[in-house]
Amino acid sequence: MSGVILQRLAVCCRCSCQPPPHNPCGATVFRQSGCAPLRVSVFRNMEYFWRGRTQNNRELVESLKQNGSLQTKRVADVMEQVDRGLFVPPNELPYIDNPMPIGYNATISAPHMHAACLELLSGHLQPGMSALDVGAGTGYLTAAFGMMVGKEGRAVGIEHIPELTHQAIENVQRSRAGPLLASGSLSLHTGDGREGYPAGAPYDAIHVGAAASEVPLALVDQLKPGGRMVIPVGDIFQELTVIDKAPDGSLKQWGATSVRYVPLTSRQSQLGHN
Ligand code: SAH
Repeated sequence: MSGVILQRLAVCCRCSCQPPPHNPCGATVFRQSGCAPLRVSVFRNMEYFWRGRTQNNRELVESLKQNGSLQTKRVADVMEQVDRGLFVPPNELPYIDNPMPIGYNATISAPHMHAACLELLSGHLQPGMSALDVGAGTGYLTAAFGMMVGKEGRAVGIEHIPELTHQAIENVQRSRAGPLLASGSLSLHTGDGREGYPAGAPYDAIHVGAAASEVPLALVDQLKPGGRMVIPVGDIFQELTVIDKAPDGSLKQWGATSVRYVPLTSRQSQLGHN
């Protein structure tokens, strides 16, 4: 990702939404290299709607390559293999670069955010490595992690809404990652992701799909020396934060980009029960 972010924009270059806190799509508000020059007009929005809408997973991946969101063949290949259409609820448009509601006040992240997180973690998702996906939601990234670490590796997803976990299991079963679920090298669990998933620790890669006010210590503890965590941090203003744990256990962190994610919180608070 380094060197990718060039210029902060008043609107998102991918969907013309407004930046946080009025950003309904949760997209980054930074222009990335490879993006076409921005033309903010009603005509551009119409063009996007009628001509720019990608119709299938292959077209979606192609457009992410063209706008610079996908930078490596390995990540492009996995996003091509894991069909987003199997993870997005049937009444939503799966192949446009927007987050989509999945119920329970949660969303599946926009494809360019999936791409960004996979690119950032790719070096820590080599065959045989282990990965934890906190706030697994639809299971999309858990499936992608599973495909990247392979059957000798381990991919664990943890989600605190049981109905979403069940749906995620069904989604993964239908996808190319299904055999990994059947063999046990990929698993999805219901639980509080702020505690991580100690039974599978330590992890080479940890991804958190919801924004934390502070980085949970349990997750830092479960990161392997040499490992990397990608976690959105903040409340209204959030930064996608990369935490690298050196072999001696020391930590370095840096911000990759501004983002807008749903909060990493308790089940009651997410469901509005308190
Ligand atoms: N990467 C997922 C993102 C889903 S949205 C996807 O693209 O499908 C964030 C998810 O985090 C939601 O499903 C929400 O239910 C979950 N979440 C929020 N707080 C959590 C917690 N404390 N423990 C586990 N999951 C949590």
